Amino acid sequence: MKFKELNIDGRIQDALEKLGYSEATEVQSAVIPELKQERDVIVKAKTGSGKTAAFAIPLLDSVVWEENKPQVLVLTPTRELAIQVKEDFDNIGTYKKIKTLAIFGKQPYKFQTQDLKQKTHVVVATPGRILDHLQRGTFDASHLKYLVLDEADEMLNMGFIETVEKIIEKLPVKRTTCLFSATLPEEIKKLAAKFMKNPVQVNIKQSQ
Ligand code: ADP
Ligand code: MG
Repeated sequence: MKFKELNIDGRIQDALEKLGYSEATEVQSAVIPELKQERDVIVKAKTGSGKTAAFAIPLLDSVVWEENKPQVLVLTPTRELAIQVKEDFDNIGTYKKIKTLAIFGKQPYKFQTQDLKQKTHVVVATPGRILDHLQRGTFDASHLKYLVLDEADEMLNMGFIETVEKIIEKLPVKRTTCLFSATLPEEIKKLAAKFMKNPVQVNIKQSQ
């Protein structure tokens, strides 16, 4: 499917063209329309199938530039993935001038706190550190509209599920939640049942 058919902001389409993304991958074709309709989605698809852009494209499309407080929170299991997802948001959101922050542990709180005070559209974070900021009142989640749980099975393997639950309990209830994973173990299904509203399930058998 072509991105044009998905009714996406022209500035995002231009960025995708610059990145050399000519057509949406299977997971992107399935997920983008659901997230544009603000439906909760659970996505099971292999590594390399293009899951990052499957959430980055519709969420960057929906983000309102004029709003100063974060509208999107992406949780990732590792700092490396947080940095990579931030880069993807920077690239895809470049012509819409979207500001994305990556927040992770083993870094001074001082600079992160300063950054979180500035105009920010998207925060990509590891669970432990962003829960700290929520508890300290240095991350204002009151305007959050979208929550992404990326590599949910990895977050489970790394022992982050309790932390993730504590974070979700502090977020606005009126939001869209999407969960991406290569596998869907029972604990992840339970997490989804607890925190998602009638999620659509997208199951991609093979990567392109
Ligand atoms: P996953 O999260 O499913 O493991 P990624 O989102 O990291 O996969 O994407 C894998 C690779 O595919 C990345 O290098 C990304 O830039 C590339 N990619 C994603 N979507 C497209 C597309 N529509 N066209 C071409 N390349 C793409
Ligand atoms: Mg991924």
